[in-house]
Amino acid sequence: MAAVTIHSAFGVQENKICQGCPGSHISVIHTALMMIHPLNYRCPIQYVLFLIQMDFWKPDSVTQIKPHSTVDFRIKAEDTIAVEDFLGQNRLRYEVLISNLRPMLEAQFDSRVRATGHSYEKYNQWETIEAWTEQVASENPDLISRSAIGTTFLGNTIYLLKVGKPGSDKPAIFMDCGFHAREWISPAFCQWFVREAVRTYGHEIHMTEFLDKLDFYVLPVVNIDGYIYTWTTNRMWRKTRSTKAGSTCIGTDLNRNFDAGWCLIGASTNPCDETYCGSAAESEKETKAVANFIRSHLSSIKAYLTIHSYSQMMLYPYSYDYKLPKNNVELNALAKAAVKELATLHGTAYTYGPGASTIYPAAGGSDDWAYDQGIQYSFTFELRDKGRYGFLLPESQIQPTCEETMLAIKHVTSYVLEHLY
Ligand SMILES: [Zn+2]
Repeated sequence: MAAVTIHSAFGVQENKICQGCPGSHISVIHTALMMIHPLNYRCPIQYVLFLIQMDFWKPDSVTQIKPHSTVDFRIKAEDTIAVEDFLGQNRLRYEVLISNLRPMLEAQFDSRVRATGHSYEKYNQWETIEAWTEQVASENPDLISRSAIGTTFLGNTIYLLKVGKPGSDKPAIFMDCGFHAREWISPAFCQWFVREAVRTYGHEIHMTEFLDKLDFYVLPVVNIDGYIYTWTTNRMWRKTRSTKAGSTCIGTDLNRNFDAGWCLIGASTNPCDETYCGSAAESEKETKAVANFIRSHLSSIKAYLTIHSYSQMMLYPYSYDYKLPKNNVELNALAKAAVKELATLHGTAYTYGPGASTIYPAAGGSDDWAYDQGIQYSFTFELRDKGRYGFLLPESQIQPTCEETMLAIKHVTSYVLEHLY
């Protein structure tokens, strides 16, 4: 796969778009752009056509482009010259982030760890992660138990690790990884977290207190089918691998499939789109598994954490609407403190805030859904980086990324323990 990623910074000066553009079929796309993304040139027809064929890395789709924001997208090698010419002719400032994806695909495996099996400092294939869930549970029976909370579209078992000292009526924090298949750093973090929990319990006072007083439910990979597909076939796959009647396109965006303003905004009803919301809320077995588990444990779950990449952001509700959560002031202060803590290790800067205004509106997300179920502390983490490697974050960054993220997660955990409800 040879490809080019262009990081394009749009300067927006005026709202006149494409006056007198011919062709009614263009105007539909056009309207969408006019509402969301006023461009500073006249007839963005070709540009629109380019955009709709592109693989968006940030934001997730063309409809989520905001004025004064940057856009990362991947294009085919053979389109490079045309796209660069077009951007240049229209005086759009841009930067080629990755000029050839192929060496970058290899460069992500730069870990110096020589292990052939599971490693916390490498990206592990699903079968390795699956075996690890069994092993880490059997080696730490006093701290970890493994259960299955459902199966995926293709029949893979969705495992959940309960991490904590056995006790009755303990509060809990639910954390999941691997919603989006290509965000490999996310499952790596869930594995790292479990390792840190068992490694530091009894040695480090905070982790010891956490595991004594509460349980972590850790779901290492939600979208297992998609994750497998990123290893076997297409590293850039995002959605699930489900099929649906009436379309040859495959996959639903799990983070648009929850019953929270489902498909109202920032999501697509077209099964061929990367942000396809599914045929109904919770149409996907993976969504159902997560939602059913959380629903049946609502009395104990005090925080919901969902780990994505990339952008370096810590987001809280809402994303399906610009309305603010009722404890907005509290969530804002907590996010601010957590990202400050995170930055102490390597200086990694995170932004934070409500999803809709901090990134873009997007309905059907798990964090909004969990919040509306009554879980007052609900956060989405977008881990490293900010586009230098994007989804192809090298393995050598797993350790620093996970270590700094641990600081933020531990900060949130301490806070939640002090503010049980
Ligand atoms: Zn994601």
